[in-house]
Formats: sequence, C-alpha cells, structure tokens
Amino acid sequence: MDYRPDDNRYQSMAYRRCGRSGLKLPGISLGLWQNFGGLDLFENGRAMARRAFDLGITHFDLANNYGPPYGSAEETFGRILAKDLAPYRDELVISSKAGYDMWPGPYGDRGSRKYLVSSLDQSLKRMGLAYVDIFYHHRPDPDTPLEETMGALDFIVRSGRALYAGLSNYKPEETRRAAAILRSLGTPCLIHQPSYSMFNRWVEDGLLQALEQEGIGCIAFSPLYQGLLTDKYLQGVPQGSRAGQGGTLAGRFSEAKVELARRLDEVARGRGQKLSQMALSWVLRQPAVTSALIGASRVGQIEDAVAALSAPAFGAEELAAIEAILREN
Ligand code: NDP
Repeated sequence: MDYRPDDNRYQSMAYRRCGRSGLKLPGISLGLWQNFGGLDLFENGRAMARRAFDLGITHFDLANNYGPPYGSAEETFGRILAKDLAPYRDELVISSKAGYDMWPGPYGDRGSRKYLVSSLDQSLKRMGLAYVDIFYHHRPDPDTPLEETMGALDFIVRSGRALYAGLSNYKPEETRRAAAILRSLGTPCLIHQPSYSMFNRWVEDGLLQALEQEGIGCIAFSPLYQGLLTDKYLQGVPQGSRAGQGGTLAGRFSEAKVELARRLDEVARGRGQKLSQMALSWVLRQPAVTSALIGASRVGQIEDAVAALSAPAFGAEELAAIEAILREN
C-alpha cells in the first residue's frame, strides 16, 4: 500500500532555528549510522523512517561510510525515498558527510577537495538525489590545508550538490578558523555536529560558546551515549543490543557507568520521564543545541525520543542532582 504520512505531523514537533540561519531543524533528528546497513532488515529501517516522518522528524543524517558495508545506509535510504518519502523531498533535510575512510588509495579518506567532491557525487547516486541539504566535513584533517577543505565545501554548495555546509568533530579553535574561511568565501557554516551527552561533555569546554558567537547551529550526536543513557543496560547486557555486539560502545562500557545510569534513572523517574528521555531533555536544555541526533533500532525508541520534547523544563534542584551524579563520571 502507498505510504501516506500523518496529516498531523507538524502539530507536536518543536522546530528550532539552526544558529543564525533561515533553517529550522526538529528537536529530534534521526541518524542512520547503525541499523540501516545492508546487513540489517530493510523493512525495519523503512518502518522507522516512516514513523519518524509521521512524528515530524524532518531531518535524516547519513554519511558516505554508514553501513556496513560502507555506502549501504545511503542505498537503504535511497530505497526508502523511492518507495515512500520522495514525494515529500521538499519537506526533508537530508545530510551526508565525508572525512573518514571510504575507498582504497590516497583519494578515499581525510579532507582533500578530490575526496570530498567525488564522495558526495557517489552519495548522491546511492540515494538517488539531485542534492543533499547539508554536507559535512566529517572530521578535521591536519594534513590538508583548511583553505582547501573549506574551499571544497564552498564549491559543493555553489555547484548545487548541497544547500548548506557543516563541520563535524572540529575542536573550538579549528571551528573558528574554518568558519572564518567559509564566511570569507560567502558560504557560511550552517552547523556543527559534535558528540554530546551526559557522559561526554567536551563541547561545554568552549565549543558551544564558539558556535553561539559564530551563529552556527549544533546537532548533538550520540546523546544517549549509544544506549548507555537508557534503561536498556540497567539490568545487564541484553542480546542483540549494541554493547553486546562489540563496536565502539563495548569499549566504553563499564559497570561504573551503568551504576551512574541507575542513579540518573531515579532522577528521571522523579520527573516522570524515562532515562533516555531525560538524557535528551538534558542535551536540549542548552540554547546552543539545535537538535538531538538519535539512533534507533526500533520504532518505539523514536516514539520515546519525540515524547521527551513535551517534558517540563528542568528545575534547579533536578539539575543539581544530575550534576552531582555526573561529577563522579
Ligand atoms: P544514540 O546515543 O541515540 O544511541 C542510539 C542507540 O541507543 C539505539 O541504537 C539503541 O540501541 C539505543 N536506544 C535508543 N533509544 C532507546 C530507548 N528508548 N530505549 C532503549 N535503548 C534505546 O545515538 P547513536 O550513537 O546511534 O548516533 C546517532 C547518530 O549520530 C548516528 O546515526 C549518526 O547519524 C550520528 N553520528 C555521527 C558521528 C560523527 O562523527 N559525526 C559519530 C556517531 C554518530 P540498540 O541498537 O542497542 O537498541
């Protein structure tokens, strides 16, 4: 049966302005790093994308190498567009990135103009798109002049392959330098995509301030610390969970962190929220943060996340209780 999105999809979602730009993003955005690859069940990914859009999630985040295998998340998203979402292309903000390892040889990694432009051309082909809304340099490359990488982003926007340029994983000083170059080229930096969560607060040490000063938006990735800031691991590691499958979360997993999560869960319950929802409210309490960029393995996780947007603001006592727990991290 043809997909018809929910007529009420714009009624409950909160949209927040991205820095000092004309673009607004949903408070919750959906990333396709995991669970949308070639090895995952297509119909599950499709159901999640449809439900997300029904709930007002207009922003879907990809990268050249999301999968596995590399490129397959973009292929999956291309299939979802072709089957369901293509008629709503102008209601969507679709992003992709290049900057990490993608193909063999000297032109498939890092920050050269050669890599960025050809990688985006490949991404567009995989998704069946004429352009992406946001194209990011995925991580800084100390070996390529910043002028070259920013010049490539400017060219990508001017050539119509992307509407906006973004940076990911750049430190505060690198961000200011990159933003200055982009501004001088006439393609302002729209957005920065850093990691940020209760268990990973590096952005509070200068990056958020830099973004506010520069008028750049911020989309916080892994706001649930890949699932540790949910009730998933409070009683042990379930089968099929991300921590159970190895990967980067397994390396960061510790019983001490689970114990902190248990204590945070108590604060969340006191607010009438799940821990996952409180973790999202907490990231979004920062005025500099435009959107929380979640991942999901099932539809219910997306519904939980969107429900977090209607939670009450934090009281001073709640914030102090959370702070006391996080100080032990
Ligand atoms: P999260 O921190 O949101 O972790 C998502 C995982 O948490 C889910 O896959 C699920 O794990 C678990 N989870 C989510 N909701 C719930 C819930 N309600 N109850 C229980 N468990 C839940 O984000 P990700 O680490 O997935 O990253 C999100 C996106 O950020 C990526 O898709 C990508 O777009 C972007 N990203 C960008 C990076 C960059 O360098 N720019 C790097 C990493 C990510 P499970 O699968 O076990 O069910």
